Amino acid sequence: MSTSPVAIYLHTPFCPSKCGYCDFNSYAMTGEIIDQTVEAIILELERSPWRGTSAKTIFFGGGTPTFLSEKQLTRLLHKVLEIHPPVPGCEITSEANPGTVDMPKFAAMVQAGFNRISLGAQSFEQSDLLTLGRVHEPSHIARAVAMAREAGFRNLNLDLMFALPGQSRKAWSINLQTAIDLKPDHLSLYCLTIEPNTRYYRLNLRGMLDLPDDEVQREMYEEAVTKSSQFGYRQYEISNFAQEGKECQHNLCYWRNECYYSYGPGAVGCFEDQEGRRLRYTNMKHPSLYVEAISLGKKLWCDEDLIDPKTSEFEQIMLGIRLNSGLDVSRVSVDTRSIKTLVRRGWVTHKENYLFLTPEGRHFCSEVALLLSPN
Ligand code: SF4
Repeated sequence: MSTSPVAIYLHTPFCPSKCGYCDFNSYAMTGEIIDQTVEAIILELERSPWRGTSAKTIFFGGGTPTFLSEKQLTRLLHKVLEIHPPVPGCEITSEANPGTVDMPKFAAMVQAGFNRISLGAQSFEQSDLLTLGRVHEPSHIARAVAMAREAGFRNLNLDLMFALPGQSRKAWSINLQTAIDLKPDHLSLYCLTIEPNTRYYRLNLRGMLDLPDDEVQREMYEEAVTKSSQFGYRQYEISNFAQEGKECQHNLCYWRNECYYSYGPGAVGCFEDQEGRRLRYTNMKHPSLYVEAISLGKKLWCDEDLIDPKTSEFEQIMLGIRLNSGLDVSRVSVDTRSIKTLVRRGWVTHKENYLFLTPEGRHFCSEVALLLSPN
């Protein structure tokens, strides 16, 4: 079992409504269940087998963490900090929806110890936000940024999505520039993906989503890379761009395939047992089942997998190749003939022990990982 500092994730599964494209473990619920879930997460933390292990990063995700009250957020963070004492400089992030924040909430969050805020802006176009099913309006985004800064957040991310239904290249360009003009420290720029079990999936099957074609998606992505770099954002992962020193330390732990301990309904965690075997677990997903399991002391995991060394190695390739710092091929076994093929195709470059995706290769990340994997 690891005694080195680890990444801690806490999942709050509640949202004001369910977005059409969302396949996260999130529920449009209000009332008592939220209080009960917060109390259950506190109990889960208190019973943690990893109590005392220091936190190198802490991340509240969801769902919409800021759908909770400031009192609930503070209580949860205080408990995390008690169970997992933070290392100096620990990055403590909360995701936030611009429509669920106000000055008192941000002030209370800073006071509690949060030092990074990640705002789910997604688009500055009212029509996009309506189509996506978001609860916020475009004007809420700049207001949330201003309030977060005033409250004391010195590390702020904006999430934006591109290739939205009906979105033109020009509309994306304006969205991107509007986000950059707000001077966030970090930008996460994701292509909309249509996931099974979502309203968007069903609409798409019926041909009712007017999605930009592959060529337009590719141009949108390339504009994201070029424009963010013009404004001082260094790309450090396929979809993530940061000002100097503002890379998301928590997400870097995932991409480096490190272990992380997770709490809350549907939270997925990964740890090494006493024999050094790697296990991944998923907590009960529905808040009621989660609360019941905690209160009755029943098994909390609805899923657990022993990650065999081959799978672990493949995951390391798949995640590591996404990073601009490259994949260290001396630490994983890769198919060396494939490296030559990939270099010939112009998808990767090879320098010393490291493989790097080229700008072209970034469009084929999964294919690159599959080809590199020797299994
Ligand atoms: S706010 Fe985020 S988590 Fe909540 S429904 Fe929308 S996409 Fe899903």
